[in-house]
Amino acid sequence: MTTFRELAREIPVVEEADVIVCGGGPAGTTAAVAAARTGAKTVLFDVHGCLGGVWTAGALSWIIDASNKAGIMAEIVGALDARNARAGRSADFAYDVEAMKLVLDRLALEAGVSVQLHTRVVAAYRDERNRLSTVVTESKSGREAWLAHVFIDATGDGDVAAQAGCGFDLGHPETGQTQPMSLMALLTGIELDEVDAFVAGGLETTTTDPDHAARFRDGTLNLLSELRRAGVEPSYTRPTLCSIYADLFALMANHQYGASAIDARDVSSATMRARSEIDELVTGLRSLGRPWDDLRVVATGAQIGVREGRRIHGRYQVTEDDLVRGARHQDGVCRVRFGVDVHALLRDEGGFQSRAQDRLETRTREYDIPMRALIARDVDGLLLAGRCISGDFLAHSSYRVTGNAAAMGQAAGVAAALSATSGVLPHELPWHEIAEALASVSPVELPM
Ligand SMILES: Cc1cc2nc3c(=O)[nH]c(=O)nc-3n(C[C@H](O)[C@H](O)[C@H](O)COP(=O)(O)OP(=O)(O)OC[C@H]3O[C@@H](n4cnc5c(N)ncnc54)[C@H](O)[C@@H]3O)c2cc1C
Repeated sequence: MTTFRELAREIPVVEEADVIVCGGGPAGTTAAVAAARTGAKTVLFDVHGCLGGVWTAGALSWIIDASNKAGIMAEIVGALDARNARAGRSADFAYDVEAMKLVLDRLALEAGVSVQLHTRVVAAYRDERNRLSTVVTESKSGREAWLAHVFIDATGDGDVAAQAGCGFDLGHPETGQTQPMSLMALLTGIELDEVDAFVAGGLETTTTDPDHAARFRDGTLNLLSELRRAGVEPSYTRPTLCSIYADLFALMANHQYGASAIDARDVSSATMRARSEIDELVTGLRSLGRPWDDLRVVATGAQIGVREGRRIHGRYQVTEDDLVRGARHQDGVCRVRFGVDVHALLRDEGGFQSRAQDRLETRTREYDIPMRALIARDVDGLLLAGRCISGDFLAHSSYRVTGNAAAMGQAAGVAAALSATSGVLPHELPWHEIAEALASVSPVELPM
């Protein structure tokens, strides 16, 4: 590859914060709120024009593994309920994406977080003590530098940790293949009472509730038959329609295989392929007449849903063994209930889920994520939250769902604030101090 040597230049240092959170998805937003409530001067960056990540820019509209999470996750659920913006009261639930944007804005602003949207973190620098000291952003304000005592990488893909030089894993341990991306769509022009038979109980595929599982299966199989009746074949063989309101639905019906989350050209072509496929599927259904004749796409996600990015090396790695033995940790910050859910890695794997998970499917138990999995191993002063924490391929497919991401965010935010204000590195903080502060930020039930 030919290269171009960019000229070195002086750039402004905009601010010195206590805590900088990079990425404002479920993990990053809760991290920033928790850090600010713990008394840290906190800055939060996100590349999109809203907080929420896959919850909003990704138009996901379905939250899993939140029912056993107190703390900020429960506050978010309460705020959605106050707006009548949550569908149903089941353990996993759909919600109104626009309401979620407002709820997260308010949480962050009320906590005193300094939020900067439309801003991408593009570089990270360590000092001579191997401590992350500076990140560089690109935005409409140009290229700018920001200093902090502690940073949190909540970019989903582990961008900042990688920029800082942390080791990481990506994809299947043998092949490097990653799970497919999926672009979400919000649909209208149909009525719940007319399409009820095609509506599933949830967007993702693994559940332990038999009623929910049956409803999921029936709804997705009916929708698949209906699409085939229309002469169109979805790339995801469990196409899922879920109801947000009686006339607003979320559709997850495509799998974009072989695209890397850390390759901008892959992400771009996967997004455009997926958007075109959604149009084809919706046009096909509409051609069937009632009840689909007015079916329309309201919006597709501004960000294609990425299941897998980098898994950054931490001071503990969550592994499939943790799932099998139901690991318990004295420094547990999040109890995971969701099972293993590896989506097919290749289109011709013969199903919607990957055979890579077969041996584990029925043998997993609830397990804890310890604080140590949220602390970067290779660079000091850097915490991780959300799907980029330290774990192996199979464990990641379980802990990645957003109820867990939010709980991890809260823990990372509290630890970052304590570290920044006390001068003690995150991995040297006594666990009991983190646990006490976690409870005072927003009541949490730590796994015991
Ligand atoms: C199609 C699909 C369906 C899923 N279904 C479900 C489901 O039904 N329920 C569920 O709970 N979970 C589901 N998941 C899993 C879940 O969405 C993710 O694992 C979850 O988003 C993890 O949250 P996060 O905060 O770590 O990451 P993200 O939601 O990806 O948030 C990362 C944030 O960082 C920002 N960002 C990234 N890079 C930078 C940068 N360099 N600078 C600044 N900002 C940056 C992004 O804009 C984004 O806002 C699904 C995932 C996919 C892809």
